[in-house]
Amino acid sequence: MIEPLSGRKRTHRCGDLRPEHAGLHVRLMGWADRVRDHGGVLFLDLRDRYGVTQVVFRPEKLEPQMLERARAIGSEFVVLVEGQAGARPPGSENLELATGAMEVEAERVAILNVSRTPPFPLDGAGTAASEDLRLRYRYLDLRRESLKSNIIFRHNLVRSVREYLSDHGFLEIETPLLVKPTPEGARDYVVPARLHPGKFYALPQSPQLYKQILMVAGFDRYFQIARCLRDEDLRADRQPEFTQIDLEMSFVTEDDVFEVVEGTLRSIFARDLGRELPVPFPRMTYEEAMSRFGSDKPDLRIPFEIQDITEIAGVSAFEVFRNAMAGAPKTGTCVLVLPGLATSSRREIDGFEAAAKQAGAAGLAWARVKGASLDGGVAKHFAGDLVPRLLEAIGGKDGDLLLIASGPRRLVQRVLGLLRTQIGNAVCKLDSQDFRFVWVHQFPLFEWNEASSSWGPAHHIFTMPLDSDLPHIESDPGRVRAQLYDLAANGNELASGSVRIHRKDIQETVMRVIGMKAEEAHSKFGFLLEAFEYGAPPHGGIALGLDRLVVLFHGGDSIRDAIAFPKTASAASLMDGAPAPIDPADLRELKIRVEP
Ligand code: ASP
Repeated sequence: MIEPLSGRKRTHRCGDLRPEHAGLHVRLMGWADRVRDHGGVLFLDLRDRYGVTQVVFRPEKLEPQMLERARAIGSEFVVLVEGQAGARPPGSENLELATGAMEVEAERVAILNVSRTPPFPLDGAGTAASEDLRLRYRYLDLRRESLKSNIIFRHNLVRSVREYLSDHGFLEIETPLLVKPTPEGARDYVVPARLHPGKFYALPQSPQLYKQILMVAGFDRYFQIARCLRDEDLRADRQPEFTQIDLEMSFVTEDDVFEVVEGTLRSIFARDLGRELPVPFPRMTYEEAMSRFGSDKPDLRIPFEIQDITEIAGVSAFEVFRNAMAGAPKTGTCVLVLPGLATSSRREIDGFEAAAKQAGAAGLAWARVKGASLDGGVAKHFAGDLVPRLLEAIGGKDGDLLLIASGPRRLVQRVLGLLRTQIGNAVCKLDSQDFRFVWVHQFPLFEWNEASSSWGPAHHIFTMPLDSDLPHIESDPGRVRAQLYDLAANGNELASGSVRIHRKDIQETVMRVIGMKAEEAHSKFGFLLEAFEYGAPPHGGIALGLDRLVVLFHGGDSIRDAIAFPKTASAASLMDGAPAPIDPADLRELKIRVEP
């Protein structure tokens, strides 16, 4: 029953036929999406990557042998059809299909291959089957429209990126996959080096060191669509291998990097989304983002803001607020004003408090604004003219709900930031196509690590401090801000980068502050430090998460929906069974013994 192709070629693809093709003799090939028998007349929806075409088999017009073949077609069979393209009878057009005005009157049909019945339906949102089952049969899931169109969108987006950057003088340069460990702070995937028993390559967590060395080599504008591999305990929306649009530029400040990224996104919007993207994007410092939104990737679609009320609350009768003022500026009291939410029930408010506690807060205070006074919660602690002072300071109005947190300042900001996001997502009708980009910059250079009682890099150790903060780098590392920036949109971090240290003396100081010994620095990054001794230009760059861009712009629940062959949360590939044991002989050759 299965026929060879015998050199036959498609005349059209399944998404091609339009009224102007009526009367043409066509040959289509594709998968049997649906077969319906309407009282002897068979209808076949033939599908390929480009679309679906309706094919009609009329018993009175077909040779019996052809009819028999048509009747044998099952779901997902691979089918060749020849016949005449024509308009569908008036009234039977399908306006939702690009080819919906047309059909093919079959004259010949050939089954090029059969198919087992797919384990899940290939139409719809894919929710009919578990994700594990869909990952196991990824090639079937990829036939579903939404996944397929994500993969196509991804290709188009990458093409736009390549064109834009190439037009702006960037060179695409590949960096190695077998590298010395890279410094992004996650665990490396390692590869045994057969020719060097006992030694290992790492798979790159990013091309960071190599792109900086390309700057030393004089390639002043580099980019790469780079695979990054990080052996992390997977959080919900992470993948062990993901793709970055990786850039590096010489003789630049952050403004130049921002301009290139804005231009790239603008060109993606114009070409792939058919929309104009206004640039430049707004900018705010990390300090401003944290104090107004309690997040370094604020969702600017949500209209609520956090305000500091340490001083006013500190003279109320509430001891928690008074203590926060006594401990200022390390501690403080902040409020999240929620217009119109005074109608929230006690149960809802208890839910907000539970979320705050889960995020590490000791508790959550609240009050409703009723007319010009406060009601419920901590209202009783605000007496006399304190209420009008508070309401004036925060712009509080009748019907507002105030959520108030007190304690270590950053924690308070984060907790209210989390509530802002949760409540915003629940009550504001957020439009997923309203992209609100924002640059967040001047992050701290160092982060204090409680567990090891030491300073660590907030991003990576190659980030340049702000010129003005250089003098404090050893005396007060906590106040040093970095030329470090993130691009965020709608609560997602889309890119991260920095102006780099290009001077050996500053690089060594940073390493000293984080307690890295000279020998360690030398053994890990000696090749970079040595390169810096040969005329390293000032340089900086950034990397954008490609998978997330695709999901944000085109749709999907997780970055798995933007990757053709993703892994599960435990870093396994259900389709091919990776990771898998290797042959004992191979292990012997690598001089590796696996402990039972
Ligand atoms: N290599 C950095 C990262 O992967 C990005 C950069 O600084 O360019 O986060």
